[in-house]
Amino acid sequence: MRLIFSCAAALGVVLCVIGPGSRAPRAQAPKHLALVGGMLLTGYEVPPIHHAAVLIEGNKIVQAGPASEVKVPADATVVDTSGRTMLPGLIEAHGHLVALGHGNYETWFPWINAHGGNAMLTRVMETAAKQLLMAGVTTTVDLGAPLQPILAIRDRINKGEVVGTRVFASGPWISRGATGAMQAGFGGVNIATPEEAAQQVEKLANAGVDQIKAHAGLTFDDYKAIVDAAHKHGLRVHAHVYAEQDVRHALEAGVDVLQHVGSAGTAPPYSPELIRGIVNAGRPVVVTAAHRAWVYPDTAAFPERLQDPEMKKLFPPEIFAEVQDSLKNWPALGYFQRTDREMLYRERGVKQFIESGAVMGMGTDSGTPMNFHSEALWREIKVHVDMGMTPQRAIAAATRVNAQIIGKGRELGTIEPGKLADVIVVKGNPLFDIVALSNVEIVVKNGTVFSWR
Ligand SMILES: [Zn+2]
Ligand SMILES: [Zn+2]
Repeated sequence: MRLIFSCAAALGVVLCVIGPGSRAPRAQAPKHLALVGGMLLTGYEVPPIHHAAVLIEGNKIVQAGPASEVKVPADATVVDTSGRTMLPGLIEAHGHLVALGHGNYETWFPWINAHGGNAMLTRVMETAAKQLLMAGVTTTVDLGAPLQPILAIRDRINKGEVVGTRVFASGPWISRGATGAMQAGFGGVNIATPEEAAQQVEKLANAGVDQIKAHAGLTFDDYKAIVDAAHKHGLRVHAHVYAEQDVRHALEAGVDVLQHVGSAGTAPPYSPELIRGIVNAGRPVVVTAAHRAWVYPDTAAFPERLQDPEMKKLFPPEIFAEVQDSLKNWPALGYFQRTDREMLYRERGVKQFIESGAVMGMGTDSGTPMNFHSEALWREIKVHVDMGMTPQRAIAAATRVNAQIIGKGRELGTIEPGKLADVIVVKGNPLFDIVALSNVEIVVKNGTVFSWR
């Protein structure tokens, strides 16, 4: 079964329902759309607005506030959000569309090659993009994928040819001396000198990437060359760093976002000097805490999550079968080899940033083993709340702060006039129970309504 979506104007609402079918008509955004009745979280750390309304014109938000103060034009199509919570579309600050939770890169990428190659890779990325959108993730920062395929899916989504999360793509990451199935599958490129690093950035920028990913193992001069070349093109640099020395190099070289820091057990709580340096520089961090250190014990506690029938519906059957097969003996997977140590340090790893007041975005490495796109972000947000972040700050991290740290703060991340119309409606009150974010009922992306309940 090939899942696509169809749109119909029913009850005056353009509703795009994802389901079985063979054609993918383009959705037309209505002229005026109003979401009326529910509680509104704007993405700012202020009290919620009760019985609110959000008015959308085309793909932009034009008004948001108490329903009694928002003038809904007579021609507007109205979506009743009574009894629900409205908040900005979530932003995933670290995802991988080429992966779908499969347990082993050594077999996943060869499986793709043996089952259609690029055609299957496209199918995988389409599946990931749709899973993310359905989870309320209206924007995803993809940090590692072969260049042409990821740019192609990004552009097809933007044109409305594919239903999916909005993608900002880095294409291949830049590394030194990396080998193996992971490097090949995620399209990593190796450099040997800072000059080569700068040339690589130049090449990626000219190809049209949205940001640069610098992998661990680079020298300070490499990071510096990458940052200088990227900033010339107005691109931000995200560094994949764990060890204290790598983090320090990336920080001092001016890397814009420090990814993975504080997770993985390779760098148990950083030195106070490094934390102070990060905080004083106002340098954003994205911890990617939940994969491995929380996903593993959560799966041990409830392995049934791997066979969730709701999740199964989000996969083409042959891909689901392959993913299931790879997870048969999941505790033995190489990916989880060091998880015991990661679990030992996991709480301090997250708390060191929460308590120091660092600028924290929210990203998950979604697509990595058992870290499914359909749930990775709410799990990551829950971990931050469990570690002491207020629900409001955690939601702001996944919306407003994420938008700012990826350089899209003017268009995305909050519900206020002038922003792109990315709004999600969830069942329940996430300020009371953050897991309400797993209950996404309606997604509005760029002014188009998607619903699947
Ligand atoms: Zn990474
Ligand atoms: Zn990653």
